[in-house]
Amino acid sequence: MLAAVTKGVGAMELAEVADPPSPGPGDVLLSPEAVGICGSDYHFFGGHLSDAAGGSQFPRVQGHEVAGTISAVGPGCRAGLTAGQRVAMFPLRACGHCYPCTVGRENTCDNFLLTGVHADGGLQQRLVLADEQVFPIDVADPAVAATAEPVSIAVRAVNRARVQPGERVVVLGAGPIGQCIAVVAAERGARLLLVDLQDSRLELAADLGADTLRWGDADQVVDVARRWADGGGPPVVFDATGVAPAVQAMLAMVASAGRAVQVGMSNEIAAVRVGLLTEKELDVLGVSCCNASEFGEAVAVVERNTDKLARLVSHQYPLAEAPAAIRFAMDNPTQVMKVVIRCDT
Ligand SMILES: [Zn+2]
Ligand SMILES: [Zn+2]
Repeated sequence: MLAAVTKGVGAMELAEVADPPSPGPGDVLLSPEAVGICGSDYHFFGGHLSDAAGGSQFPRVQGHEVAGTISAVGPGCRAGLTAGQRVAMFPLRACGHCYPCTVGRENTCDNFLLTGVHADGGLQQRLVLADEQVFPIDVADPAVAATAEPVSIAVRAVNRARVQPGERVVVLGAGPIGQCIAVVAAERGARLLLVDLQDSRLELAADLGADTLRWGDADQVVDVARRWADGGGPPVVFDATGVAPAVQAMLAMVASAGRAVQVGMSNEIAAVRVGLLTEKELDVLGVSCCNASEFGEAVAVVERNTDKLARLVSHQYPLAEAPAAIRFAMDNPTQVMKVVIRCDT
């Protein structure tokens, strides 16, 4: 069978690899149909994944945003899984015994394994997964079903933020994760303002129902966003960029007693005046992946919002063109929203 193997920094190659064995107890055999490529794939591909995130280990079959159909169900799997069923893949497996696991935060497990990062992922024609990693999804288009993973990050972020109906919420960064946060927060009854450098991303955000603001001078962005939220600043701000000036703007604009939620990942250093945190008594909340019940929530969000989420899929390529596709995505950030690799064509 065909696989796209990342053999080293910046080197993805197509390869004929052995078919996986038939699924053992508690496992299913998945045939990936659609695999989304995202910013963390670029980090992995470029060798920039931090050691805390597991580092970049080669060779690896990437692909953690996966929709596919079950080809075979091993003995002892949970009820309700059948061959032919479309599922979305929950990429996370946790150890169950470290501190975060014992307090119900297995998404930050010290020993976690992410399929597509620490174990081979979806950019191949078949792979074996544990049955708790597959969630049946009732969506006709596999490319849209594959958005369940980025939507799951948004569900986690919105849950961490405790977004309430009627709240004014700012999202810095209108890429796929920022747009997914907007979709989830809007369902919770929030008013959204999305901020980005790129007009095309802001136009999409506006089409999906958000107010928009072009990033320019940071002080001016902070000022406009605070006035948009009735002067006292927005009670909730998400940073979906990981870029230091945006993180600083988030902390500057958020209301006193508000929640500042860091979703974008990076190795950047952002200088912060310490008094900002105490004077405003901010809740600064990080987000990493999500837990299994939130992945289930994300599947339901996708099923209710297929038209909106279909707008995020800007480019599709067959598996045979995966190496060219990831290069195109990394080289053309202004054109690309979400590249999806089709393993079923
Ligand atoms: Zn992703
Ligand atoms: Zn653990």
